[in-house]
Amino acid sequence: NMIYLNGQFMPIEQARISPMDRGFLFGDGIYEVIPSYQGRMVGFALHMARLKQGLAALEIRLDMDTARWQGIIEQLLDANGKGNLGIYLHVSRGMETRRAHAYPDNLEPTVFAFTFEIPTEPVADASKTPVFRVVSEQDKRWKRCNIKSTALLGNIMHYRTGQKRQMNEVLLFNEANELTEAASCNVFVVTQGRIATPPLDHQLLPGITRHMLLDILRQYSELPVDERIISMDEVRSADEIWLTSSSKEVAPVVELDGKPVGQGKTGPIWQQAQALFSAHKYEY
Ligand code: PLP
Repeated sequence: NMIYLNGQFMPIEQARISPMDRGFLFGDGIYEVIPSYQGRMVGFALHMARLKQGLAALEIRLDMDTARWQGIIEQLLDANGKGNLGIYLHVSRGMETRRAHAYPDNLEPTVFAFTFEIPTEPVADASKTPVFRVVSEQDKRWKRCNIKSTALLGNIMHYRTGQKRQMNEVLLFNEANELTEAASCNVFVVTQGRIATPPLDHQLLPGITRHMLLDILRQYSELPVDERIISMDEVRSADEIWLTSSSKEVAPVVELDGKPVGQGKTGPIWQQAQALFSAHKYEY
C-alpha cells in the first residue's frame, strides 16, 4: 500500500511521524474521505471546499492548491490499483519540540494521504444493500461538529455504544430532543412521502453525501425535501430512516432502539433516492 506523507510517496511500512506532532498529542487537525470507483472520484471539488473551510476554521496555513491534491490522489490511485478505493486525506497542524497548547504561526503542517479498499459500491437494490440497525442517545460531542476534526473521541464513544449492542450506528439527539446526525453519518427521515434532514449548523457535519443527495433529489425528482428541525418523536414514527456518508451513500435503517422502522425493511423511497444518487453522483 503506497501512501503520501509530507511530500513523498512510500510504502505504509516506511511512514514515520513524530510523537510530538500536534495531530498525535491533541488531535489538532482535519481530514477528508473521498470515495473513488475504478479511478473516478465522487465529490472531489466539494471535499476540497470543505477541507479549505476546515483549515481556515483551525487557522492552519497550508500551501497546497487543489491541483496539487489532485496530483497526489491520482498518483495514489495509480499505485494502489484503481479499484474501489476510499481516499483518506489528513492535515495536522504539525510538529513542535515541546508539548504546549499555544502554537507558533509558522508550523509546517503534516500532510498524510492513503487509500483503503471499499468492499462494494452501493447499489439501489433492496436484496443487496446492507441494512442498518441503530440505537439512539444524547449527543455529547462538542459544539463545533461542523468541523471535520481528526479529534473524534466523542464520535467513537457514541459509536461504541452501538457496537456493544451489535448495532451498526447510533443516532444522536440534542438537549431539546432534536435529531442532529449519527456517529459517522448524516441522517434523513421520510414521513408520509416527505423527506427531511436537519439543517446545517454547529451540531452536525456538513456531509458531502447529504449535500449531493439534497441537490440530486431537488433537481431530478418530484419528491418534497426539507431541511428542518426534526424531533426524535418524529424520527421514531418515521416511515423510513436513511444514513448518508461517502462510503455508504444512502443506507436504509430498519430498526431503531429495538423497534422496526416503518415495515422493518428497506423502503420504496430509499430505493428511489439511492437509484438517483447512483445515476448522478459522478456529476459532483
Ligand atoms: N457525520 C459525521 C460525524 C461523519 O464522520 C461523516 C463522515 O463520514 C458524515 C457525517 C458524512 O459525511 P460525508 O457525506 O461527507 O462522508
